[in-house]
Amino acid sequence: MSYDIATKCIHLEGACKGSIYGAVSFPIFQTATFAHPGVGQSTGYDYSRLQNPTREQLERIVASLENGCDALAYSSGMAAIAAVMELFAPGDHLIVEEDLYGGSVRLFQNVSQKNGLTFTCADISQENIEAYITPDTKAVFIETPTNPMMHVVDIAKLAQITKAHGLLLIVDNTFLSPYLQNPLDLGADLVIHSGTKYLGGHNDTLAGFVVTGSEELSEKLRFLIKTTGSMLSPFDSWLLIRGIQTLSVRMKAAQDNAYQIAWWLTKQKHVKKVFYPGLPSHPGHEIMKKQSRGFGAMVSFEVDSQEYACSILQKVKLIQYAESLGGTETLITYPITQTHADVPKELLEKNGITGGLLRLSAGIEDAEDLIADLSQAME
Ligand SMILES: *Cc1c(COP(=O)(O)O)cnc(C)c1O
Repeated sequence: MSYDIATKCIHLEGACKGSIYGAVSFPIFQTATFAHPGVGQSTGYDYSRLQNPTREQLERIVASLENGCDALAYSSGMAAIAAVMELFAPGDHLIVEEDLYGGSVRLFQNVSQKNGLTFTCADISQENIEAYITPDTKAVFIETPTNPMMHVVDIAKLAQITKAHGLLLIVDNTFLSPYLQNPLDLGADLVIHSGTKYLGGHNDTLAGFVVTGSEELSEKLRFLIKTTGSMLSPFDSWLLIRGIQTLSVRMKAAQDNAYQIAWWLTKQKHVKKVFYPGLPSHPGHEIMKKQSRGFGAMVSFEVDSQEYACSILQKVKLIQYAESLGGTETLITYPITQTHADVPKELLEKNGITGGLLRLSAGIEDAEDLIADLSQAME
């Protein structure tokens, strides 16, 4: 019998977590190294850069949530993405979604390119990527829905193309979390998470994950993580285990709030456009109904002017003006100067990231309180 995902957030199938003195909470093995029972012998644990029981417990949980064969826990989402880029060699070419998290764009343009990788940016939700494939192309990197414009990519359809051409399909699944979407089941090869967001869920810990669909990729990434040392600490691993326990209740509550806020925003006179895939008018609505179990808790919206957008940021009281997302608190951010500050101006314009665009991460407060706060800020 296989557990439902809400159960899997709390109980690891097949594991006896109470085996250590019957502890219900998995212990934090706060140790850098492990003593050997004898010469040439090992308990299976030698040094925490290589193995740590708390981190391994977390990795098994995340692998089980994403139906992956393995998961690796990193010190941040960016550390996870940087590790994935180490799978490639100078001369390799990647096709990447043009509306990505700004930190990913900064990594590709300033670090990966210097290391000899080349990139083509495309609106993968609309364009046929086959036109961009060259003999050097090795992978396609997407988010869906994208950050912050909420473009939706049909993962299964894209996976058919990447498989036919022998390319890796890498999906940053941060925005929906494994509770709402499992890209490996749709044909992706690697799934990335910023665990800082929904998995951790409390805006208090940085973490990142790569979940693999094959042993081969897992082996390569295991070699890289022990060599470069970008893994998650035992204590932060424990915080993530704790955060994940409430993933299902938090996602449901946050999504419900996002839905109500999105509808409310569509009726405000200074709001020009609301980008939320849960609205039936959203171009990605039908695809998401097919590939996801919900529409998530992120809402972007465009208001009349830059001045008005800034005045909303000044006036919100309950909602905090901060970057990041996926926590219990509702946050609002200004992509053009915050999350996407390092994205080139032409790309910002092309993607419609204007001075009037705001991005809201719905938390799990009371929906009416949130709408009342937005209402007073938008007067
Ligand atoms: C935040 C974020 C990242 C980066 O993760 P960190 O934990 O901040 O390093 C990557 N991708 C997406 C979609 C994100 O929202």
